[in-house]
Amino acid sequence: MSIKENLISIKNTFINPSCQLIAVSKTKSKEEIMEAYNAGIRDFGENKVQEITEKYEILPKDIRWHMIGHLQRNKVKYLAPFVYLIHGVDSLKLLSEINKQAEKNNRKIPCLLQVHIALEDSKFGFSEDELIALLESEEIKTLGHVQVIGLMGMATFTDNDAQIKSEFEGLKNLFTQLQSSSLPENIEMKELSIGMSGDYLLAQEAGSTMVRIGTAIFGERNYN
Ligand SMILES: *Cc1c(COP(=O)(O)O)cnc(C)c1O
Repeated sequence: MSIKENLISIKNTFINPSCQLIAVSKTKSKEEIMEAYNAGIRDFGENKVQEITEKYEILPKDIRWHMIGHLQRNKVKYLAPFVYLIHGVDSLKLLSEINKQAEKNNRKIPCLLQVHIALEDSKFGFSEDELIALLESEEIKTLGHVQVIGLMGMATFTDNDAQIKSEFEGLKNLFTQLQSSSLPENIEMKELSIGMSGDYLLAQEAGSTMVRIGTAIFGERNYN
């Protein structure tokens, strides 16, 4: 099937039609991205700073670029002028650097805080306790050039649906709990970025507002 046909069949399976689809285009060519663009997609996700920056420069300017991978502090400056949403913020130090670079660019950068929900310890993110401590800290209130708009998580890489479901539901519960707590002005709980090619339906059942889908749209990635 073509990229366009994949997009149509993915959208047709959505449990929540208003869930935002982010097309994860890492390793994919300009031509493949344009095929998705011509099928109406404007939100694209990348996980490497160099790649997202190069693609930003050559592709249409109405694309909304989502940084979904682990972000190093010393590279924030390259993204700060154009990035639409940073999904994987996993430390106060990183958030402070984003704030600094956003200020230099005269903008406010939207971010999601990444929560560690998977069994593997290789996946980045805050624990629930660390997240709550961060949200209650004095320091976060001083970061006026970032707008935290929600949470992001990645489930365990497994074919055990019950495991994935319980991880997503755990994050959704935390998200709901935070929504009803008093948060600083620069923190909101609107977006829940969970779900990839293999688990986006489970994520939507758990209340995902954004899914990040690569393989199911563009086919397998070739890392050479
Ligand atoms: C690569 C990636 C995805 C997309 O994964 P697929 O399984 O190809 O859909 C989603 N989220 C993150 C953080 C990724 O790095």
